[in-house]
Amino acid sequence: TGARSSMPSLPGVAELDGVSGFRSLHDVARLRDWSRARPGVRAVVVGAGLLGVEAAVGLRRLGADVTLVHRRPVLMNRQLDASASSLLEAALATRGIRVRTGCDPKRLLGDTSVSAVEVEEGGAPRTLPADLVVFATGITPNRELAQTAGLDCGAGVRVDSTLRTSDPHVHALGECCEFQGNTYGLVAPVQEQANVLARVLKGRRARYCDPSLVTRLKVSGLDIHSMGQVEALAGQQTLWLSDAEAGVYKKLIIEDGRLRGVLLVGDVRHSQWYFQTHQSDRDVSALRDVLLTDPSRDDDESTPADVSVEVA
Ligand SMILES: Cc1cc2nc3c(=O)[nH]c(=O)nc-3n(C[C@H](O)[C@H](O)[C@H](O)COP(=O)(O)OP(=O)(O)OC[C@H]3O[C@@H](n4cnc5c(N)ncnc54)[C@H](O)[C@@H]3O)c2cc1C
Repeated sequence: TGARSSMPSLPGVAELDGVSGFRSLHDVARLRDWSRARPGVRAVVVGAGLLGVEAAVGLRRLGADVTLVHRRPVLMNRQLDASASSLLEAALATRGIRVRTGCDPKRLLGDTSVSAVEVEEGGAPRTLPADLVVFATGITPNRELAQTAGLDCGAGVRVDSTLRTSDPHVHALGECCEFQGNTYGLVAPVQEQANVLARVLKGRRARYCDPSLVTRLKVSGLDIHSMGQVEALAGQQTLWLSDAEAGVYKKLIIEDGRLRGVLLVGDVRHSQWYFQTHQSDRDVSALRDVLLTDPSRDDDESTPADVSVEVA
């Protein structure tokens, strides 16, 4: 049964027109209609995760005057670190999108339609004018049908590693399910769950475990791929390369010669290689000199790169 947009329970959200999630074709059609009916419409997008960034760029393309607000200091904080977030913020600014981090919406103002968002920013209240407010603040699994049927539910419909619910004759997968306390919001784990469940239903032995994921931002001209850890833990090493002028930032987190995290901004040519290497847990120690620049090249032909190394 999937999931739906999580709408925060702030004053004004349920009462006012001009407030939307970003989930369905219906949401998209509505946002498009509003933007077309009022050129230069002031849109505030709340939440700068993957979807929020995509919504902000989409609305800007439709001619809206867009402000993207994010509670945390780092944009897409599940996928990016502070340096990558700065690059993303600069790229959004060149597209005419205002970004406000550390900015927490408190309530929506207006009579019948929204006219402003009251936020707290740096400890002080502030009012952002808005004709349209789009919440991209996460998803809520559609577990009501399962709950009514008496199945065990947490945030989602609880399943074991065979995707079985608390009733052995009922399985669940996708955004409605919860496995080991995790819920899901991307296609890749859902497809893996479908593969496992297909084998289970054919009577084969199969177990689901959370796969390693690559997260990609789908905004043309803004290439960002992220997989694994974002920040190094004690004892891990960080290799990074940063070229702000070219809009390129790469960061690799390594432990015992193995990749534990990969963050690529602006240059994602070797993303597939990193993903396969991360998946296979291959030892990359011998490739260290070219790991940030051209990892798929033969080590013997490599030219050492200007690489910074940090030990956390
Ligand atoms: C705007 C947007 C962009 C996205 N971009 C990406 C992306 O780039 N990459 C990525 O990996 N993921 C992306 N996702 C997430 C991805 O779409 C979801 O993770 C995926 O669709 C989840 O699949 P699902 O089958 O669990 O749920 P859904 O695709 O939501 O399907 C659930 C279906 O169940 C139906 N249903 C619900 N209740 C009932 C009921 N009681 N009876 C019968 N039917 C019912 C619903 O109508 C729906 O058709 C995006 C999502 C959104 C909203």
